[in-house]
Amino acid sequence: MTDCPYCGKQTFVGAEKCDFCGMTMFIQCENKRCGEPQFFENEKCTVCGKAIKKAEKQINIIRNS
Ligand SMILES: [Zn+2]
Ligand SMILES: [Zn+2]
Repeated sequence: MTDCPYCGKQTFVGAEKCDFCGMTMFIQCENKRCGEPQFFENEKCTVCGKAIKKAEKQINIIRNS
């Protein structure tokens, strides 16, 4: 289980969408040649190895509120 970055509730790791708020748990790889969807907690793209930047500011704002 992991915390949803949007609503903060526990949702299944690897789930496509949060069970509670319906937001996607995948972000797109920033490598334009790759662009594969990656689980938001991955540190690197599993396809091309590019480091994934999380939307940490957004996540922190939601968790602190
Ligand atoms: Zn959620
Ligand atoms: Zn990639």
